[in-house]
Amino acid sequence: MSEDLEATIRKYALQNAVLYSGKANPKAVQGKVLAESPELRSKVKEVLPLIASIVKEVNVMSPESQYRELEGIDASMLKKEKGERRIGLPMLPGMEKGKVVMRFAPGPSGPLHLGHTRVAILNDDYCRNYDGRFINRMEDTNPEKVDPDAYDMIPQDLEWLGVKVHQTVIQSDRFDVYYDVARKLIEMGKAYVCTCPVEEWRGLKEKCLPCPHRDEDVGATLDKWENMLSGKYEEEKAVLVVKTDLKHPNPAVRDFVGLRIVTSVPHPIKGDRYCVYPMMNLSVAVDDHFLGLTHVLRGKDHLNNTLRQEYIFRYFGWKMPHYTHYGLVRVPEAILKTSIVGRGIRSGEYSGWDDVRLGTVRALAKRGFRPEAIRHFWIDCGIKETDIEFSWDNLYAYNKDLVDKGANRYFFVWDPVRLQIEGAQELRARAPRHPDHPELGDRKFHLTAPIAVQVVGKDLESARQAGKVRLKDLGNVELRDGNAHYLGNDLSVLKEGFRIIHWVPDGSLPASVIMPSGKSMDGFVEPVPQEEEGRVVQFERFGFVKVESVSPKLLAYFTH
Ligand code: GLU
Repeated sequence: MSEDLEATIRKYALQNAVLYSGKANPKAVQGKVLAESPELRSKVKEVLPLIASIVKEVNVMSPESQYRELEGIDASMLKKEKGERRIGLPMLPGMEKGKVVMRFAPGPSGPLHLGHTRVAILNDDYCRNYDGRFINRMEDTNPEKVDPDAYDMIPQDLEWLGVKVHQTVIQSDRFDVYYDVARKLIEMGKAYVCTCPVEEWRGLKEKCLPCPHRDEDVGATLDKWENMLSGKYEEEKAVLVVKTDLKHPNPAVRDFVGLRIVTSVPHPIKGDRYCVYPMMNLSVAVDDHFLGLTHVLRGKDHLNNTLRQEYIFRYFGWKMPHYTHYGLVRVPEAILKTSIVGRGIRSGEYSGWDDVRLGTVRALAKRGFRPEAIRHFWIDCGIKETDIEFSWDNLYAYNKDLVDKGANRYFFVWDPVRLQIEGAQELRARAPRHPDHPELGDRKFHLTAPIAVQVVGKDLESARQAGKVRLKDLGNVELRDGNAHYLGNDLSVLKEGFRIIHWVPDGSLPASVIMPSGKSMDGFVEPVPQEEEGRVVQFERFGFVKVESVSPKLLAYFTH
């Protein structure tokens, strides 16, 4: 075999490995090689062992060296081709197995919602693929936005999502670290205590001008800093500002507040032990450094924050993590704003954090979403810079792929209307528990005179107009004089355009399905065994639901 061929195989093996978490798949490599050199199709038997051995060689390389080698051959191959289905996240520069440290940094203001799950899952996926360390960092240095219950709820939600946390860090345990960095910044001449009214300070910045405190000497600034720490200033009367570049073209990046005074609200965990609190840009930069972060994933909305935080890294000569800013995803319908939801729970408008109208992880779990569906969804969305429109339908499709196989089928009749069937003494029906799994058997119905069923009100209306209808798996009826008249069970009527509707025997179990809108769909359901509690089933012609309980009546939540 020629050296050229080996080089071609190696090139595609490297590409496949780089694009799919460090492991090339021989089949995928074979496809690429044969597409490039179709003449090899007749020699596949000889080419395959070569592919196998080259793939093996490539797969033992570190992801870093795979990346470098491919970059040297053809850097354009580091990116996926358009239209190619993603089955993993792209490797990020500098990712080495065993050396990746990443973090999820939620503010503990409530449990996690769909928006949080993206960054949690993406970080987790990288950590899993690169034997990395996942840090869950509770960013609780804004006492106004801390809900003490969230310290427990967030880890529970992460566990449900299948996120493996290696270390948990609580920022309010680290005030000493932030204070120490603040003092060092002052000593380096990189921070000042500003006591100007905030609008004045901002106005000056806009004009690229320093406030009178910016150039005070280190000694005077340190004195004021001590005064801040010992509570000599009231809230909003002094801040510690980190210097950047007053002439920076982006006004948002010019000098930023690193620490402020908060005395009006005690910290829900620390009480009134501290009166000086770090702002996000300071605590995030400091922690990202001291916790050894190698890669930071964050939304594009954090771009200015990254620019600010980089100043702190540069002043101390710290190695910066690799930052990735992905495009935003707007989740329009779900109620995600934690403070609004919290208020709604307290006022009784929502039943709790798992109210199915909400976009919380708890609400999704209650509705029957599988954590893997959320994971696949976000990984396939990827980390591109373009903004994406969130689509519930897409998420539903991922979940349906997972739940459909295991979801038994049942008849549920909502907005029910009773229908008496004349002309039959006894009717039997069999309906498959799952259309794709005959081995699961049938649900069996046995109705004896006087026979009556419940059907969906709307179905009956349109059936009346058509005059005849097929009751699924039971038989055909003609609708006249307010009743149904049995016409036998010949399926060939379907050719005449009979519509099929579903039904339940009269006297069936009452059932309520709570919809994502909060509305309850009430009706009757055929017998559902108790082992379905907690599982997702399909109510035919209605949708997937998660069964909460089956007695004294059935209660379920609509999945999709
Ligand atoms: N707590 C911040 C957030 O969730 C940190 C994010 C970051 O620094 O990337 O928005």
